[in-house]
Amino acid sequence: MPEFQTSPGMRDILPPESARWRKFVDVFAQVVQGAGYGQVISPLLEDLGVFQRIGDATDVVTKEMYDFVDKGGRHIALRPELTASICRAFVQHRPVTPWKIWYTGSQFRYEKPQRGRYRQFDQVGIEVLGADDPNLDVEIIALGWEFFHSLGLQQVKLLLNSLGEPADRAAYVEALKAYFEANVDALSDESKVTLQKNPLRVLDSKRPQDAALVAGAPKIAAFYSEGAAAHFAAVQAGLTSLGIPFTVESKLVRGLDYYRHTTFEYQGLTLDSAQNALGGGGRYDGLVESLGGPATAGVGFALGLDRTLLACDDESVFAPPATEVAVFVVDTTGGSEALAITTALRAVGVSADRAYENRSMKSQMKAADRSGATYAVIIGSNEVDAGTAVVRPLRAERTPDGEGTQITVPRTELIDHLRKAIS
Ligand code: AMP
Repeated sequence: MPEFQTSPGMRDILPPESARWRKFVDVFAQVVQGAGYGQVISPLLEDLGVFQRIGDATDVVTKEMYDFVDKGGRHIALRPELTASICRAFVQHRPVTPWKIWYTGSQFRYEKPQRGRYRQFDQVGIEVLGADDPNLDVEIIALGWEFFHSLGLQQVKLLLNSLGEPADRAAYVEALKAYFEANVDALSDESKVTLQKNPLRVLDSKRPQDAALVAGAPKIAAFYSEGAAAHFAAVQAGLTSLGIPFTVESKLVRGLDYYRHTTFEYQGLTLDSAQNALGGGGRYDGLVESLGGPATAGVGFALGLDRTLLACDDESVFAPPATEVAVFVVDTTGGSEALAITTALRAVGVSADRAYENRSMKSQMKAADRSGATYAVIIGSNEVDAGTAVVRPLRAERTPDGEGTQITVPRTELIDHLRKAIS
């Protein structure tokens, strides 16, 4: 075993899988840019305080953060998510509202690694700051839905809930607290601790011991104010009008105090229940304010790239894109012809590769086959003397003996010939 390997929960993404990651982001960008979202590229590091403002009741902030003191004595954290950075950026730059943005990048959480759960993982997401309109919640949920379907995923379930207005939520939290406290002996030890910090989060418990109590807990719907009920009804009506199926799941709470009204989650039905959240989000208030900005409504989601690709594998969709080159140049005269031809091909937009180290004809032809190229260009001393090049189809037009019908073209016409053949 080599002395150095990736740390636990961290992976090298190699070709061709890495090409799939890029395409994933490209597809996402296309979907959201088509709806008026612009990309924000945030730093990987932020002042620790930025994330502490998200709240101290989540494991993400209390237990899982990679934080350290830098050489200037600043307490810094590797970002565990991007909503806080986006809100910090909003306060710093004061853009015109509604600010519709998208992002992509790696996040870092010191979690117990397992399939679909890593310490460095990637997300794509959108946020809109400065607009409080149920139609926007619908737009956002629909964009995530459309994105999953653009990848080819079918086995995705949309769960929807509302946490009501802050006062509704506060009353609900009190009722939940009273309910769980009255039954505290039956709760798992972990949930007893959670109950002290944030009763809502007890509803998230996936421990069998908590299942019956959680199922019998009071439901938030009984606490909705008129405005909250109207907002939730508008979101449901909007989704229905777009033909997007959803299931109302009253246990779907976001633990953070900032969340209000709509919350949602996309579940991958082929994944294990502990890691089946492909992504989720909701409407939040107060985060911008807590970072020093004006009271600003926010809504958005983050989707996990790693986990969504696992779901794609399960459904055999969204395969890695082809990364082949169009032309492979085989040069048995030393390599300078290959250098000239590959450079000229690339300059006219034809992808081209070659072999190195002046290998034998046989070895170079093998490399040409492996490259997936459509054509091999073959240059030996005869071709150099005659000012020609041999063009051999590698994939199409094969003859029964397995060889393509090759042709000889004048060297001066080679680049143009290939450019036309490829297009
Ligand atoms: P969250 O920011 O916790 O709401 O997570 C949003 C999405 O990011 C989840 O639904 C997952 O798809 C993904 N995600 C969160 N944590 C991890 C992790 N440790 N490893 C892989 N994906 C993750």
